[in-house]
Amino acid sequence: MDLVLLGAPGAGKGTQASLLGEILPLPRVSSGDLFRAALANQTELGLKAKVYMDRGELVPDEITIGMVAERISQPDCAHGVIFDGFPRTVAQAQALDDLLGRMGRKVDLVIYIRVSTPVLLERLAGRWTCPKCGRVYHRLYSPEKVQGECDDCHVPLYQRDDDTPETQSRRIAVYLEQTAPLQAFYRERGLLVEVNGEQDIQAVHADIVKAIQKARGEAA
Ligand SMILES: [Zn+2]
Repeated sequence: MDLVLLGAPGAGKGTQASLLGEILPLPRVSSGDLFRAALANQTELGLKAKVYMDRGELVPDEITIGMVAERISQPDCAHGVIFDGFPRTVAQAQALDDLLGRMGRKVDLVIYIRVSTPVLLERLAGRWTCPKCGRVYHRLYSPEKVQGECDDCHVPLYQRDDDTPETQSRRIAVYLEQTAPLQAFYRERGLLVEVNGEQDIQAVHADIVKAIQKARGEAA
């Protein structure tokens, strides 16, 4: 099954993708992870992408599509993929149709995790990261034991450059503007299922599982 998860930054896509591991043991392809790997390896595509990411803007389609094409041609993606953070535009969605079509596959289901902007901002504002182990804490939802310090590494936590309030507001606005046509694209094809992302994590997960079972033709 090829599944696309849609949702603004802070909507919980990453959390939900992780929870899907048992019911849908497929690799998760996140454009964010692809970018971070490309940046770490200083690839040409990675360096190009960095200029846009630093400004809180969308990376141009040809860069993103190139990275995704390379990733999904790998053997572990042969039985399907959970796409997280990709596609972000209709052009990317069309490119994904082409890529999958050449493999005799198609997007089977698109889940949009809907969360309102004020709730997204509240969630994003509280995020702090450990520089050593990468663990992410949240002041409201999953606080560290000693404020400002990683529970495991006991080093000071920091806020990522792309986690400042200004960058976040901009990222959310860009996301909503860019993905409204994308939602329409998938809705017209009968693939879009909308889930209320303001419920607790397990309730969101249960709604997503129901949608997957329905798409597979299983009884819910
Ligand atoms: Zn740590």
